[in-house]
Amino acid sequence: ENKDQKFVYDFTEGNKELKDLLGGKGANLAEMTNLGLPVPPGFTITTEACKVYLESGAEPLALRDEVSAHLDALEKTMGKKLGQADSPLLVSVRSGAKFSMPGMMDTVLNIGLSDKSVEGLAQQAGDERFAWDSYRRLIQMFGKTVLGVDGELFEEALEEAKTAKKVTVDTDLDAADLKKLVKQFKKIVKAEAGRDFPQDPREQMDLAICSVFESWNTDRAKLYRRQERIPGDLGTAVNICSMVFGNLGPDSGTGVAFTRDPASGHQGVYGDYLQNAQGEDVVAGIRNTVPLADLESIDKKSYDQLMQIMETLENHYKDLCDIEFTIERGQLWMLQTRVGKRTAGAAFRIATQLVDQGLIDEAEALQRVNGAQLAQLMFPRFDEKAKTELLGRGIAASPGAAVGKAVFDSYTAVKWSRSGEKVILIRRETNPDDLDGMIAAEGILTSRGGKTSHAAVVARGMGKTCVCGAEELEVDTKRRRLTVGGTVIEEGDVVSIDGSTGKVYLGEVPVVPSPVVEYFEGRMHAGADDADELVQAVHRIMAYADRVRRLRVRANADNAEDALRARRFGAQGIGLCRTEHMFLGERREMVEKLILADTDDEREEALKALLPQQKQDFVELFEAMDGLPVTVRLLDPPLHEFLPDITELSVRVALAEARKDHNENDLRLLQAVHRLHEQNPMLGLRGVRLGLVIPGLFTMQVRAIAEAAAQRIEAKGDPRAEIMIPLVGTVQELEIVREEAEQVIAEVQQRTGVELKLALGTMIELPRAALTAGQIAEAAEFFSFGTNDLTQTVWGFSRDDVEASFFTAYLEKGIFGVSPFETIDKDGVGSLVRSAVEAGRATRPDLKLGVCGEHGGDPESVHFFHEVGLDYVSCSPFRIPVARLEAGRAAA
Ligand code: ADP
Ligand code: MG
Ligand code: MG
Repeated sequence: ENKDQKFVYDFTEGNKELKDLLGGKGANLAEMTNLGLPVPPGFTITTEACKVYLESGAEPLALRDEVSAHLDALEKTMGKKLGQADSPLLVSVRSGAKFSMPGMMDTVLNIGLSDKSVEGLAQQAGDERFAWDSYRRLIQMFGKTVLGVDGELFEEALEEAKTAKKVTVDTDLDAADLKKLVKQFKKIVKAEAGRDFPQDPREQMDLAICSVFESWNTDRAKLYRRQERIPGDLGTAVNICSMVFGNLGPDSGTGVAFTRDPASGHQGVYGDYLQNAQGEDVVAGIRNTVPLADLESIDKKSYDQLMQIMETLENHYKDLCDIEFTIERGQLWMLQTRVGKRTAGAAFRIATQLVDQGLIDEAEALQRVNGAQLAQLMFPRFDEKAKTELLGRGIAASPGAAVGKAVFDSYTAVKWSRSGEKVILIRRETNPDDLDGMIAAEGILTSRGGKTSHAAVVARGMGKTCVCGAEELEVDTKRRRLTVGGTVIEEGDVVSIDGSTGKVYLGEVPVVPSPVVEYFEGRMHAGADDADELVQAVHRIMAYADRVRRLRVRANADNAEDALRARRFGAQGIGLCRTEHMFLGERREMVEKLILADTDDEREEALKALLPQQKQDFVELFEAMDGLPVTVRLLDPPLHEFLPDITELSVRVALAEARKDHNENDLRLLQAVHRLHEQNPMLGLRGVRLGLVIPGLFTMQVRAIAEAAAQRIEAKGDPRAEIMIPLVGTVQELEIVREEAEQVIAEVQQRTGVELKLALGTMIELPRAALTAGQIAEAAEFFSFGTNDLTQTVWGFSRDDVEASFFTAYLEKGIFGVSPFETIDKDGVGSLVRSAVEAGRATRPDLKLGVCGEHGGDPESVHFFHEVGLDYVSCSPFRIPVARLEAGRAAA
C-alpha cells in the first residue's frame, strides 16, 4: 500500500476515461457532473481500495480518513450532516466495476436513516409516509445485502402487511403501516443476523462499503465474470451518492431510458417511468410502469429537460447511452449513464447512423461492431412475424434457430434422426455419453449449466444451436417429459429453440434465412428498400473493413461449389484444399487398391486410375478460383481412415468364415487394417511421412495439379496453384519431396509445352517445424500455419477427445477462458507462430505466410495474426465475412 495513493475521488475530480480506477458508474457520474448535468453530489472509492481490501481482508489504513474528509466536504455542500436527527443527509452506497455486471453486486439506498433521523426526514419533507417508506427500504436492503438476511423474509412481511390491509401495491400502505413494518423488519434482522440494525449512520456507511467490496467475490459474480470473460482481479469501485427521492409522491418518480432503441437503433423516446417510486422499483416489476413518452404529460418540464440531456449525452459519448434518472418533486436528477448494450443488428445500424450524423468516422464505426455480432446475423432465424408460444428462457449458448421433436436421451435422438426426423435433444445437463445424440440433434436444450457447461462448449464447437440453463423447465428424463408452468411436453412434441436469444417455444416456429447471408450470396442487394436497412449497414461496414485491412482472407474449400460460394463471400483465394476429401465416396475403392497393392505394378496401376480423377477436381477448382491463389495440400490423414472400421470388418470376416464363404478381398483388407492400425494415428503415418514411404503417391498428386494447371492455361485461364506439404518436422523431409515434385513439374512442362509457375511450400504444424522454421524456409516458398495440429502437439491435447472429456472442467476451473482450439493460445502456440514468422522471413524475406485452420475465422485470433504480420488467414467459407471484418478492425 503506497502512502501517497489516493483512494477517494469527488465526482468533480473524475472523468469517463478513469473506468479502471473509478469503475464505469463512477467514471460516468463524474463525466456527467463535469458536463454540468444535474447529478446529486458524491464521491467514489477506487477499485484500488477494493483490491487492498480483498487481498488483506481490511480496508487500506488511509481510506477511513479520506472518506471522512470527503464526507465532510459533501456535508458542507449539502448543508446537512449524515444521519443527523433534525435534517439528515442520506446517501446511497453503490457498487460499480469497470465492466457492467448488471445486478451482480450490491447497492444500498437511504444510508443514514435511523429511529431518530427518520423523524427528522419526515419533518424536513413534510411527509411522514415517505420517511418511513425510505426507512423500511433501508432496513430491507441493508439487512439483505450487508447483514446477509434472507430477502424473502422481508418480502413476506411486506406481502402480509398488504394482505392485512387488503391492498395490492406498496404505495397503498400508509405511515402507520410502514412504522409497523419497520418494527417487524428490525425484529427479522435481530433474529437472523444476531445483531441490531445499526443506528449509527457512519457505521451503516462503513459496513455498506465493505459489503460492496465483498460483493465482488460472490459466487454469482464470479460465475458471471467467467461467462463474460471479465478478469477476476479488477475489483469494484464504491460510489457514495447523496440521495434524491422519487418516492415523495406523485410529482416524483424514477425511470430508465435509452437514447435510441437498443433493438433497432432508431432514434426516439425509449424507456420506462414509474411515479412515486425509488431505485429498482421500475425494473423490479412491482407496479406497472408507463412508457417514457407519457412523462411528457405527467411533468412536461422534466421531460423536456431529459430529452435535452439525452441529446447532450449522445453527442458527447457519440453512442447509444442508457440512463437512470429520478425526479424529486419536479426536479430531475441523473443517477447513471453508460454506453448501452444493443443487439447485433442495432450495433451495425447505429454505427452507420452515427457516421451519417457526423459523430464518428469510418475507422471508429469499425470498432463499434465485431465479428461475433456479424456471425450472429448470419444464422437463420425465427420469423419475427410468426405467432409464438414462449415456454421459457435459458442462456443463449450457441446461436441459431432449431426446430424438432423433443427427445430426452441420446439413443432416441440418434434413432429418430436416422429415420429422418428432426429432433431437439433435451437433457437436464449433458455429459460425454450424450455426444452421439448431440450430433444427431438439430439443437440442444438443457435446464442446468451456464455458458461453460458441457452442452454449451460442445455445441459451440459443433456449430450447433444450444440453449442451456433454462431453469424454469423441469426435465424428467425417466418419464421422457418436460414440464413448465402448467404445460407438459412429451417425447415427440415439437419445440423450437433460439440459440441467439435463449428463448424456448412450443411448436414449430417458421425459420427464415438471414438477410445478411442473402446479401453475401448476392440474392439481395444493398440499397433495395427500407426492410434492408440492416443489409445496407452491413454492406457499408464491410466496405470500410475491406478498404483498411492488410490481411487477405482466403477460404478452406475442397470443391468448386464451395470455392464459388467463398468467392461470393469475398474470399481472395483458397488457403487450404484438402485432397483427402477427393478420395472418398466412389473413389474409396481405388484408394483401397492402392493400400492393398503388393507389387509396384499393382500400386502404379492404382495410382494411374486415381490420376485423371484428381486432375479433373483441380481443373474445376482452378477454374472456380481463376486468377486467385489455390493452396492444395497433399494427402494428410493416416491411411486407415480410408479403410473399413476394424470391428465391423472383423465381424464380417468372422461371419463369412462361419459360413465357410471365403472373401479373399476382405481377408486382405483385414490384414491391411491390422498392419496400419496405430495407437496414436494423429502422431503416426500421415502427412509428408505418407509421401515418403508410399512411392508415387505425392508425385501422382503433383502431376494431377501440374496437368490441371497446364490445361487451364491452355484454356486461357489463370491458375495460381500452390502445392503444400503437410506435417513436415524437418527440412530434409521437405527437400526430398520438393526434388521429386520439381522433376514431375518439369516433365509436365516439357510434355505440354506450357510454362508452369507452381509455388511449393509447407504447413508449420509441428513444434519442431516452428522451432526450425529458419531452416525449413530454405526449401519452402510459403508457410501456412496449421494451428489445429500445432495446438494439439504443443499442448499434447487430442482434439477429438479432450473437448468432450475434460475441457468443461478446465473452463470451470479457469485454467483457460476459452478452448485453445477456438481462440489461439497466444502465450504458447502463438509465441511459436511469432518466432517461426521471424525465422522464416530472416531466411527468405519474400516468404508468404498464412494460417489455415479454425483459428483463421476466430475474431480474437485474426487480430493476433494481423499483429504478428501474416499475409492472409484462411477459414471456412461461412466465416469469411467475419474474418474480413475482424481483419479490418485490427488494421483500423
Ligand atoms: P445497479 O448497478 O444495480 O443499477 P445502482 O447503484 O445503479 O445499482 O442503484 C440501484 C438503483 O438505485 C438505481 O435505480 C439507481 O438509480 C438508484 N439510486 C442509486 N443511488 C441513488 C441516489 N443517490 N438517489 C436516488 N436513487 C438512487
Ligand atoms: Mg444502475
Ligand atoms: Mg494438420
